[in-house]
Amino acid sequence: MIVLLLGSGGRENAIAWKLNQSKHLTKLFIAPGNAGTDPLGYNVNLNPNDFQAVKKLVLEEKIDMVVVGPEEPLVRGIKDFFLNDPDLARVPVIGPAEDGARLEGSKDFAKDFMKRHKIPTAAYFTVTAGNLEQGIAHLNTMKAPYVLKADGLAAGKGVLIIDNLPEAEAELRAMLGGKFGQASSRVVIEEFLSGIELSVFVLTDGDSYLILPEAKDYKRIGEGDTGLNTGGMGAVSPVPFANKEFMQKVENRIIRPTVEGLKKDDILYKGFIFFGLINVDGEPYVIEYNVRMGDPETEAVMPRIKNDLLELFKAVAKGELKKHEMEIDPRPVTAVMLVAGGYPGDYEKGHQINGLHRVKGSMVFHAGTVLKNEKVLTNGGRVMAVSSYGRDMEDALDACYRNIEVIDYEGMNYRSDIGFDL
Ligand code: ATP
Repeated sequence: MIVLLLGSGGRENAIAWKLNQSKHLTKLFIAPGNAGTDPLGYNVNLNPNDFQAVKKLVLEEKIDMVVVGPEEPLVRGIKDFFLNDPDLARVPVIGPAEDGARLEGSKDFAKDFMKRHKIPTAAYFTVTAGNLEQGIAHLNTMKAPYVLKADGLAAGKGVLIIDNLPEAEAELRAMLGGKFGQASSRVVIEEFLSGIELSVFVLTDGDSYLILPEAKDYKRIGEGDTGLNTGGMGAVSPVPFANKEFMQKVENRIIRPTVEGLKKDDILYKGFIFFGLINVDGEPYVIEYNVRMGDPETEAVMPRIKNDLLELFKAVAKGELKKHEMEIDPRPVTAVMLVAGGYPGDYEKGHQINGLHRVKGSMVFHAGTVLKNEKVLTNGGRVMAVSSYGRDMEDALDACYRNIEVIDYEGMNYRSDIGFDL
């Protein structure tokens, strides 16, 4: 089977690595990919949001399946583009159509969906320019901290958690006034939930679903989870507090009602659903839905999946997922992200990365890297994830940090406390 994987991050490197182990794979294209996906297939330099360019590649290379890594092409309707084009309709796309992608593309839609299907989540109130005064009045009925969320995609920056009321009111006005462009023309005000977060993933064919290994990611740049938010500084899987009892609640109260809810709403959803959850005194609540895998969670989750991933994707396309069961490697996997100096603020690109050939006993999943004249150069804020299996989490983390010692590039930074709180 000839597969095209869209995206260029650590998530896509980990998915490409996993697809390479499939007995069904004959050829893999990654667009645009990075230096880490280069040895796993054919990198093609195109923008995944340019659907005409994707179409040209699919027809020229006789591609049999498209796997979408990031959310943007999904929210922009790449699946609908394929379904509506007679030349492309035979090619399955792993990922939801535009209607299902709204679970991530519109926080107001996601909240309304959860309310309708009785899925536990924080109480909320949606504000537009038309009901700003009601929004301000609503804020005045709440206690700090105040959670304000831009409705649309805002590159992970559209959520503000604010400690005092005057600032929350000012931010609400600023957001509706275009602080995040069109994405914040609608703002969701949410009740603040206090607890510990985790990420749960399922793969669904629109009817049945498989639950993938869960993971916890570390979003802040600084040790002890302090400082600015990033795209993610590391991840671990499994998550010790996600025991059988907790995961049973997650399945009964969240996963099943979500998949059933999509069906009831006539949304045919074939792809990954990412549940951003928070554990509040042992009870799971949904913080957010994403319509693709998480990054860096994928770099800890993929190595724990024992199934042939392409076989599962084929079953998703055919609507035969119920014939399969999840096989999970019991060993923990940890992933530590190496980032560019200065990230998540300004950072430099183009520094040569040395020592990769000396890594032993860990996997390296590239994110912001590029191959130039046979050299691997930094090409983004998050540069690469070092992922390791271990007898236990400590052992896996030891392997990550031992291997990080042999890698080096100018400005290299990482958190040395991934998994510290578990
Ligand atoms: P991401 O980059 O994770 O996709 P996002 O912009 O889609 O983020 P959310 O995941 O909804 O936004 O929120 C970002 C973070 O803000 C959450 O991971 C969580 O730490 C915090 N957060 C969001 N909503 C709440 C809430 N109701 N109570 C407490 N914390 C919250």
